[in-house]
Amino acid sequence: MSDLYAVMGNPINHSKSPQIHSAFAEQTGQDLIYSAILVPLEKFKDEADSFFRNGRGLNVTVPFKEDAWQYADTYSSRALRAGAVNTLIKKENGLIHADNTDGVGLVRDITRNHLCSIDGKRVLVLGAGGAVRGILEPLLEEKPTEVVVANRTVSKAEALAQDFANIGKISGCGFDKIDGQFDLVINGTSASLGGELPPIPDTAVHLETVCYDMMYGAGLTVFNQWAQSLNVAATIDGLGMLVEQAAESFSIWRGISPDSKAVIANIRASLNPS
Ligand code: NDP
Repeated sequence: MSDLYAVMGNPINHSKSPQIHSAFAEQTGQDLIYSAILVPLEKFKDEADSFFRNGRGLNVTVPFKEDAWQYADTYSSRALRAGAVNTLIKKENGLIHADNTDGVGLVRDITRNHLCSIDGKRVLVLGAGGAVRGILEPLLEEKPTEVVVANRTVSKAEALAQDFANIGKISGCGFDKIDGQFDLVINGTSASLGGELPPIPDTAVHLETVCYDMMYGAGLTVFNQWAQSLNVAATIDGLGMLVEQAAESFSIWRGISPDSKAVIANIRASLNPS
């Protein structure tokens, strides 16, 4: 019988995870079935209990990443610090182990797929929600000279910076206090979802800046349109991050690393049919 995996969320019908994991399984010859499960709000624990009677691993997306954290028995260090997880695996002893692969996904997309080093760079992160919390540890481990987290609700940016201060130089502020130029700017707000641009000053970027929007879609995001209008060196969207976080989950579950580049290209083509 095939091993069972799934992604749980609400909503879930937009999820590309079944497509991505099926492609990884085919590519690596792994016998598994990966499905998408719509979970009613307040029902995460019941659905996860039911899934893990036979299932091997789960991805978890909005709005259940904190519920999944609560559900787990053991954690990777990055998951423990993030307080939110997107990957669960049932161990042979029956315990549920949790990981957060979002940050690794982001860092791999930037450094491996786009060959952009973070080491020694001044980095600005916009937003202080669940996704940003998940990326800060892997980001700081790349040894940027400084990370500034700017958020609409300033107290959340300050609190996040405090939580990660022992890994590297990091501070939190409001958008109006963004000061100087940055080499890498990561948009981790959900403003793009509503077609809005976070209030970032044009002076935050220079001609060598790389801008990364964690959101993706057909065409350029609003944030990347803004970045291109300022002639930055490169704009990247979050599709690569999505596929790379999935690749890391797949490797945790199956012990084999899939080739993400071909899958990124296929999904990109399906977003922009010619
Ligand atoms: P949350 O709801 O946890 O956080 C949203 C953040 O966006 C908060 O910091 C919020 O500020 C800020 N925000 C919302 N609207 C605006 C606005 N109009 N102007 C300025 N700031 C705003 O969301 P997540 O952290 O889970 O997700 C954030 C983004 O990351 C989404 O676009 C999501 O699609 C993307 N993402 C991409 C992934 C990928 O694999 N590519 C993986 C995970 C997330 P405040 O605190 O003040 O409310």
